[in-house]
Amino acid sequence: MNLKLSFHPEFCQDTLCHSDTALRCGLDNRCPPELLHNLSRLSALLGQIQQSLKLPAGALKINSGFRAEVLNTKVGGVPNSQHCLGMAADVVCPQFGTPYDLASAIAELPCEFDQLILEFGKWVHVSIAPPDQTPRRECLSIFSKNEGYLEGLVKR
Ligand SMILES: [Zn+2]
Repeated sequence: MNLKLSFHPEFCQDTLCHSDTALRCGLDNRCPPELLHNLSRLSALLGQIQQSLKLPAGALKINSGFRAEVLNTKVGGVPNSQHCLGMAADVVCPQFGTPYDLASAIAELPCEFDQLILEFGKWVHVSIAPPDQTPRRECLSIFSKNEGYLEGLVKR
């Protein structure tokens, strides 16, 4: 395969695959070649968000990007998580504001996210759509697993 993949310099493969848990547990969390095209599209979306919100370099922090299945299980991710396909990242930006502030600002951008989820009031999950699907631009919030997903971005 000779596909040319490009990554936004700030959201490179290493950054999107970095995991403290994987390092601590000795797990291989490299993104497999067949998923790199997803990861590069995710990188582009994050770059677009950074640029549109005029965030200084390093301000948008990736808490979790790609997750190998074994890592996803370990961190309590949902089965079939978009993280395992290289299609989602959990981000925060303390310099910009709270996770709610960040999610609200991303929701206003004309960028092609598939889902934007305010998770537990602590971070923002942003995902891309599969290559053959139209991004849904769906906004959800979740505060507890019992309560489940709520429509829209909810401030609490
Ligand atoms: Zn996530």
